[in-house]
Amino acid sequence: MFKGLMFCILTLSSLSVFSQAEDSLFIRKLADEILTSGKAYENLRVLTKNVGGRLSGSPQMYKAEDWGINALKDAGADKTWKQECQVTHWVRGAREEAYLIQDGKKKLPFKALALGNSVGTGKNGVKAPVILINSFDELELKKDEIKGKIVFYNYKFNPLFIKTNQSYGDAGKYRGSGPSRAAKYGAVAVLVRSMTHSTDNHAHTGSLSYNDSMPKIPAAAVGLKDADKLAAMLEKGTYSVYLRTNAMMYPDTLGHNVIGELTGSEFPNEYITIGGHLDSWDVAEGAHDDGTGCVHSIEVLRALKAVGYKPRRTIRIVLFANEENGLKGGTAYAAEAKKNNEKHYFALESDAGGFTPRSFGFSGSPEQLAKIRNYLPLLLPYGVYMINDGGGGADIGPLRQALNTPVAGFEPDSQRYFDIHHAENDVFENVNKRELELGAINMAALIYLVDKYGL
Ligand SMILES: [Zn+2]
Repeated sequence: MFKGLMFCILTLSSLSVFSQAEDSLFIRKLADEILTSGKAYENLRVLTKNVGGRLSGSPQMYKAEDWGINALKDAGADKTWKQECQVTHWVRGAREEAYLIQDGKKKLPFKALALGNSVGTGKNGVKAPVILINSFDELELKKDEIKGKIVFYNYKFNPLFIKTNQSYGDAGKYRGSGPSRAAKYGAVAVLVRSMTHSTDNHAHTGSLSYNDSMPKIPAAAVGLKDADKLAAMLEKGTYSVYLRTNAMMYPDTLGHNVIGELTGSEFPNEYITIGGHLDSWDVAEGAHDDGTGCVHSIEVLRALKAVGYKPRRTIRIVLFANEENGLKGGTAYAAEAKKNNEKHYFALESDAGGFTPRSFGFSGSPEQLAKIRNYLPLLLPYGVYMINDGGGGADIGPLRQALNTPVAGFEPDSQRYFDIHHAENDVFENVNKRELELGAINMAALIYLVDKYGL
């Protein structure tokens, strides 16, 4: 009795800004709607299986845009449209060929996957001695041995970070800037150990970023089993590698952010943006990255409408273009908002997979963070137990920069994300329906609370 009373007093005092019982019932209603009549999983199936991989500039990108408009209409959006933007147009071409040459003739093939935005080798490929480089420090130490060689960066995904996106942040520079850093010392091509803890041999692509003052050299990712094998051989002997990639970079082309709105009843000119990115790598179905973010966002709109919620502010779902190899959708969205003097109240992105909810990351003022943290007891039953200080998403980053909009990122469990990230096993079958739905519930609940009580 006494314990129960204390709990009530403590809970009520910490939730004094809002009505806990009413809100908890409303969120339960949203959850029931998503768990019994949810469309996120079926939407994802259609996107991944009927459209598939949808890299910017590909025919599938346009197909995905149409899918997005239809899904938003079906969800009950008051209006939908496509916002034009110029997007990166990089094409992989025919699949890569790679092998290690042993004793001057024996070919030991391995899987290589060109990095996004990389140049191709030309049809004859590149054949050169390969040098094992475990870190940028080692690259600097061996800079006089690099000329004319293929650099193989074997920097490992650090297992000590509990959140794997930290390992990704740590290792990502070998993919992003590694090629140009090797080119600076005369390398002719680069191989990069994939950014993953996975125990399989899928190669994981992702975009690189050339330094324009260095020669642009071809670059490809290698799966972990092959990377370990190559490294073990290179520690004992000297070898050459043959690599052929067929990638081409074309001029930017027309693409679109796909947008759907529920018009606000009190402040129709104040926007709450919820989104994910519609593009994906070509070799996968882009299920977790970022099909789940797209269907999460659409489901938030659908569920709020289905339970009869009338948002105070305009809720805008945005399926962003070209996140993977250009960020031109997010950039155009922010530029347009700034040009039109729009008031962007809050933005939420889901681009970390469709796994079990764990937390949100929030970037705003300390007061806003404290206010959002007050909502935690209402999210806890559905899995979110923490609001981290700092977070957001790549696509809503430009909005924060341009308009100082408070932003948040949905943070599901990260342990399996990099098993599939940017690899051919990022497919629909690797998404769990329940986990996906729980993500949508937490996002819908957060949007409801922010819309109702403000930041
Ligand atoms: Zn993504």
